[in-house]
Amino acid sequence: MPYVHDTLARLQQSSPAQTEFYQAAEEVLECLRPLFERSPHYHDHNIIERIVEPERQILFRVSWTDDAGKVRVNKGYRVQFNSALGPYKGGLRFHPSVTSGTIKFLGFEQIFKNALTGLAIGGGKGGSDFDPKGKSDGEIMRFCQAFMSELYRHIGPTTDVPAGDIGVGAREIGYLYGQYKRLTGRYEGVLTGKGLNWGGSIGRKEATGYGAVYFAQNMLEARGDTLDGKTCLVSGAGNVAIYTIEKLHELGARAVTCSDSSGTIHDPNGIDLALLKELKEVKRVSLEAYLGAHPEAHYIPRAAYPGDGHAVWRIKADAAFPCATQNELTGADAAALLDNGVACISEGANMPSTAEAVDRFLEAKIAYGPGKAANAGGVATSQLEMAQNSSMQQWSLDKVDAKLKEIMANIHQQCADTAKEFGEPTNLVLGANIAGFRRVADAMIDQGAV
Ligand code: NDP
Repeated sequence: MPYVHDTLARLQQSSPAQTEFYQAAEEVLECLRPLFERSPHYHDHNIIERIVEPERQILFRVSWTDDAGKVRVNKGYRVQFNSALGPYKGGLRFHPSVTSGTIKFLGFEQIFKNALTGLAIGGGKGGSDFDPKGKSDGEIMRFCQAFMSELYRHIGPTTDVPAGDIGVGAREIGYLYGQYKRLTGRYEGVLTGKGLNWGGSIGRKEATGYGAVYFAQNMLEARGDTLDGKTCLVSGAGNVAIYTIEKLHELGARAVTCSDSSGTIHDPNGIDLALLKELKEVKRVSLEAYLGAHPEAHYIPRAAYPGDGHAVWRIKADAAFPCATQNELTGADAAALLDNGVACISEGANMPSTAEAVDRFLEAKIAYGPGKAANAGGVATSQLEMAQNSSMQQWSLDKVDAKLKEIMANIHQQCADTAKEFGEPTNLVLGANIAGFRRVADAMIDQGAV
């Protein structure tokens, strides 16, 4: 299929050094080959050349003052990738590793993820190379205010609605919202992940992690199995990891690991969730502190594992939930997981498995839920927050959770049906990419060459 090949070749030339973006685009476009063979009209409308190009990219300087009175400078980004289905929607990431390529990869994935939810949301993403670690509360606030002082002119409740991601949680959303309100004089649903007493949705904080577990449940049910009694590996120790562990425990499974950038905790008795929340949501300290209350648990420092891969994936278990960051699970990790009998993987993070790892999972035909399907519960519940804001209502936890479950089941069904339609019933990567793409591409065709 020269169309796919030529588009990828052009992309590599026009976006040099954006390796994560190229990786994400290659995965999607390669999956679309059988669709283009059946439906050549997508080629006639030149959809893939259009879909890999963001509608708009905003790059800006963020100048802020640290506690010592020194002016510091970071890069700010917002990529408004695709608005065929609705206002741009996608989180903000504050992490020193962020580049324009990172934001483009995340924005590109977001287009298809948002389409899979069935809701009216387009794809976008933003962030900064600002490192929140070690910063005082005052420094975080001044950075967020400086960031919003530029971003506010590009966003709005019907144009672009950012949310959180790595390094952007409830505290940062609060500071960002305060500055938006000060600059515009408007109290409106321009960000999601807001505090519960000022426009936030009950259940939003939990949604990505809970959704990833519901997706695993859906995959296992389709194979006549359940999560009950399963030993599970979870990576990360942030928002997504914490609520993945919470839901796993509620459903009778046992999460025995979590990790941060300094190392991995392995607690064979099951992760102490109250302690994890205290360490990460309140004290914001390294996971090593877990040993203070649980000396029987094992701590494996990141530096003690310098080879190919990550310690968290080398522990014996039944299921795995990568919830930290992109490319955190390598081909060697995938081989170790499969050797250890892991038969279900549901991705809470975005693109956490390398292309080689994904190939191994697909070849083994295990239950493998790619991030753009399995972690879509977060953005879906963000859209529910937008719906509550525009109708000035606040729904109950039961209502939000019921909708989340229904949305995750629908996403799973769409991926499974589409995978079956194209002759590879266990390949949910193919199913997710084709189902998400079709919805966006059909809307783009209807809306003409814009
Ligand atoms: P948080 O900032 O709350 O947590 C991230 C966690 O991952 C932290 O424990 C962090 O450790 C760890 N981590 C980050 N980078 C690395 C790294 N390079 N190596 C090892 N560990 C790392 O972020 P979230 O939980 O919100 O996001 C996690 C993932 O889920 C991301 O891929 C994100 O894009 C994705 N996601 C998040 C959604 C949401 O609603 N929040 C929605 C959909 C997807 P440390 O603190 O030491 O840096």
